[in-house]
Amino acid sequence: MTISVLDRTAGQQEPGPELSSETSLGHLHDQAGHVDHERLPCRVNNPELWFAELPSDVEFAKALCQDCPVQALCLSGALDRREPWGVWGGELFLQGAVIPRKRPRGRPRKNEAAA
Ligand code: SF4
Repeated sequence: MTISVLDRTAGQQEPGPELSSETSLGHLHDQAGHVDHERLPCRVNNPELWFAELPSDVEFAKALCQDCPVQALCLSGALDRREPWGVWGGELFLQGAVIPRKRPRGRPRKNEAAA
């Protein structure tokens, strides 16, 4: 059996707080490994917010993600994995797709235009 090792350190830059949208996924993974977990909002706040029922809590989690140093990596990973639900990378996922907002519980109004 052959085991190959992927050297991801070649040509690696020092991690910075900002991640560009042009950054490769491999580079993003490298940077995520260097980020102190204390800088990740979902690690220092109540993680239930990222899977909350209340739309206001979901919007709060999405806002907290905006300051996350690995937001781009988190979002791309969630898209790749087609996350079934929760807030990932500042976006709300449901059944593997990004949706704009969480609907409140209960039956929709008969006349949505009046809402
Ligand atoms: S972007 Fe991802 S890692 Fe960062 S706070 Fe949001 S869910 Fe957590």
